[in-house]
Amino acid sequence: MANRAYNFNAGPAALPLEVLKQAQEEIIDYGGIGMSIMEISHRSKQYEQVNDETQQLVQELMELPAGYKVLFMQGGASTQFAMVPMNLLTPGKTAAYVLTGSWADKAYKEAQLFGETYIAAASKEDGPLNIPALDEIQLPEQAAYLHVTSNETIAGTQYFAFPDTGDVPLIGDMSSDILSRRFDASPFSLIYAGAQKNLGPSGVTLVIIREDLLRESPATIPTMLRYDTYTSNNSLYNTPPVYSVYMMNLVLKWIRNSGGIDAVERLNREKTALIYNAIDNSGGFYEGMAAKKDRSIMNITFKLQSDELEKKFLEDASANGFVGLKGHRSVGHMRASTYNAVPYESCKALAEFMVDFQRRNG
Ligand SMILES: *Cc1c(COP(=O)(O)O)cnc(C)c1O
Repeated sequence: MANRAYNFNAGPAALPLEVLKQAQEEIIDYGGIGMSIMEISHRSKQYEQVNDETQQLVQELMELPAGYKVLFMQGGASTQFAMVPMNLLTPGKTAAYVLTGSWADKAYKEAQLFGETYIAAASKEDGPLNIPALDEIQLPEQAAYLHVTSNETIAGTQYFAFPDTGDVPLIGDMSSDILSRRFDASPFSLIYAGAQKNLGPSGVTLVIIREDLLRESPATIPTMLRYDTYTSNNSLYNTPPVYSVYMMNLVLKWIRNSGGIDAVERLNREKTALIYNAIDNSGGFYEGMAAKKDRSIMNITFKLQSDELEKKFLEDASANGFVGLKGHRSVGHMRASTYNAVPYESCKALAEFMVDFQRRNG
């Protein structure tokens, strides 16, 4: 489509064109009811079907074993930073965090509001941005859980294997890489993700929780901040973000129709290889910011040799239809987010642009 931008935004981010077109069609008349899904009760059979089907799609695409519930919440991943310790950090226990960057730090800081915390491992302070080796992770006595951030959206680093925590619940913030690759969910007791990177528009937060994790939630937690409110009411205790869930439903079907998780992962790897190759073959003109072994297949962070050149790069990129390449304000430099819905063609165009920019400015 001629007027679609090469969209590398970090979040909210690109949505599949097919999904946008279907949503456009259905916004006037959903399934012949003469209204959109936004305009009817969340207790209607139409919405209930969207709600149930979207849960099933998550179960199916992630191949979740029995015993997990799929929940739809609000407040973004940032609210989960608080809900996790509120519900799970009980007196006498310690919450452990692996600190890998801005998002893990925020989750850790929030837990400090609720009880004892412990830094199980942390990324190196100098050199390339990294994920600590799994054998560096240490659990405290009486650990309530271990929290990891599977993909650090700002740093551009990602876990490619997860720690074995035995009986200690493992919790993952997967906001920026959920459903981008195959992984075994069974070691995790709780996974959460704001939708606006890989799953749909903002407004809904996906939570996947093992039912046996809920037993000890303190009775004083407000109703809307308790996981059991959502598990026992099929995520329909109050009015859910109906349109965001509907959009997630369309995105999940798009993943299924694209060949499922393995096909999506293969394409994501091909997409990022194009851009990482442009960096690695540049003879130092571009420099990747993440340690090679920890390079994210969702967020590619890189530098050029001067502020001036970076400014020129962004201006030139913008003039050529590329959007969202400026790094997060906390780290600066460049970042290309290549979530599931970012087409291969956009990544190819960016890689070619990078080579061409180097030729003109190197
Ligand atoms: C974007 C992001 C968040 C914050 O999500 P909100 O929905 O804006 O609260 C948290 N963690 C990670 C890894 C993210 O990428």
